[in-house]
Amino acid sequence: MDQRTTVHSLPTAPREFGFWMDGAWHGGRDLFERRSPGHGVPVTRIPKCTPADLNAAVAAARRAFEDRSWAGLSGAERAGVLLRTAEILRRRRDEIAYWEVLENGKPISQARGEIDHCIACFEVGAGAARLLHGDSFNSLGDGLFGMVLREPVGVVGLITPWNFPFLILCERVPFILASGCTMVVKPSEVTSATTLILGEILAEAGLPKGAYNVVTGSGRSIGQALTEHPDVDMLSFTGSTAVGRSVVHAAADTNFKKLGLELGGKNPIVVFADADLEDAADGAAFGISFNTGQCCVSSSRLIVDARVADELETILSAKMKKIVVGDPLDEATQVGAITTDAQNQTILSYIEKGKAEGARVLTGGGAMSLGKGSYIEPTLFSGVTRKMAIATDEIFGPVLSSFRFETAEQAIQLANDTVYGLAASVWSKNIDTALAAARRIRAGRMWVNCIMAGGPEMPLGGFKQSGWGREAGTYGVEEYTQVKSVHIELGKRSHWIK
Ligand code: NAD
Repeated sequence: MDQRTTVHSLPTAPREFGFWMDGAWHGGRDLFERRSPGHGVPVTRIPKCTPADLNAAVAAARRAFEDRSWAGLSGAERAGVLLRTAEILRRRRDEIAYWEVLENGKPISQARGEIDHCIACFEVGAGAARLLHGDSFNSLGDGLFGMVLREPVGVVGLITPWNFPFLILCERVPFILASGCTMVVKPSEVTSATTLILGEILAEAGLPKGAYNVVTGSGRSIGQALTEHPDVDMLSFTGSTAVGRSVVHAAADTNFKKLGLELGGKNPIVVFADADLEDAADGAAFGISFNTGQCCVSSSRLIVDARVADELETILSAKMKKIVVGDPLDEATQVGAITTDAQNQTILSYIEKGKAEGARVLTGGGAMSLGKGSYIEPTLFSGVTRKMAIATDEIFGPVLSSFRFETAEQAIQLANDTVYGLAASVWSKNIDTALAAARRIRAGRMWVNCIMAGGPEMPLGGFKQSGWGREAGTYGVEEYTQVKSVHIELGKRSHWIK
């Protein structure tokens, strides 16, 4: 795709999609129209699937699972499909990045980087498909041998949010497929395009029909119905903790489907006095502003040694003022538009609460007027105390709350002072200090002297109310399997009835 003519200009008319089921597009439904959050123009039209569509998609996934057309292949054959998918993604990188920008509002340069990560997910998934294996027990005596088989769970429902529509999808799909499962995906109603496009790409790569299906529609209708579906064996949900709770109830009230949950976060970034303060400030600015802070692992609580707090806040404010906020289609943009009007209102209302509760705005503190679209200044609050709303709630926007500590013990307590446990970052040049904090902070992902680093080899997931289970890497594939113990008697049976 020629970037000058297409990637940087808006579409002249919205692209109309069908939904993807059983290896083909299906149309003829009512449509949602999605407007680009950065420009306010219509960009896509997405089907409102019906419960009958969902049932048909689950039935297609069930057929593809039971006929062994996918689960019955060798790991090497499954890896072949995943590697071909990676190749096609490489070829279509700019196009997929473009639709991510138009529906989500993230900057084009960031979106391209995310597609590179997605390609890596398929490559790591391919390796995992070949390496997936069970276990054996040669310790049961000469008369008995034990094997532990890893089998795919079956039909997986996958529900994803709008903040990283393609990245979150690709941190799951290759690993679900590597395990031999088939799936029905329900993307967020505001960012469905790239999830649909992946259907076409997987088919071209040789995935059997029915192994990947996408139904589109609202969370309350189609999402809820997927969580309650009695023929879905496992559900992987990524989204808010509130909806995660309803997913747990739905599973309990129906068929006890296995669950994977990746939910919210209120992630600490802890800076000790011996840290490189320039590095830590850069990490903090990036950690809260990346993807406009609409990121489950955003470092939204700065916890800093009181002796260096003023200096760090000064460096950080200066850096945050320099962040380039603007048109997501502009190559120079670092922070794009807020994805939905509702989220824009939520973030602005938290900024007002922070001010009303007595926290001090060091930089930012409001909306930015850049023509069409919703933009918010990267905001730093100082003097935040434990009970303020900006201290406890996941804002899901570029709003950083700064706290101070006197001792390392207080730093750990503050870091753990949250119902969440998704991610954390620690900055110190002292290995003892850094490692002690990394061990004691209760979070599924820890970064030391870095932030948001890593690849799909490493597991993703949360402690506490941030979720259950892990995605990506070998841990991720294993989530989509169940183990079966096989006992084999060797030689003549010693009879029970004499
Ligand atoms: P959300 O929970 O509102 O929606 C997520 C998905 O669930 C969407 O596809 C939505 O349509 C669907 N949904 C909504 N109601 C549903 C219901 N009753 N039953 C079934 N499905 C339903 O979240 P969001 O606003 O799209 O995303 C923001 C939230 O997601 C934040 O809390 C953020 O922390 C979290 N998140 C977590 C991770 C992670 O990996 N832990 C990643 C991204 C986002």
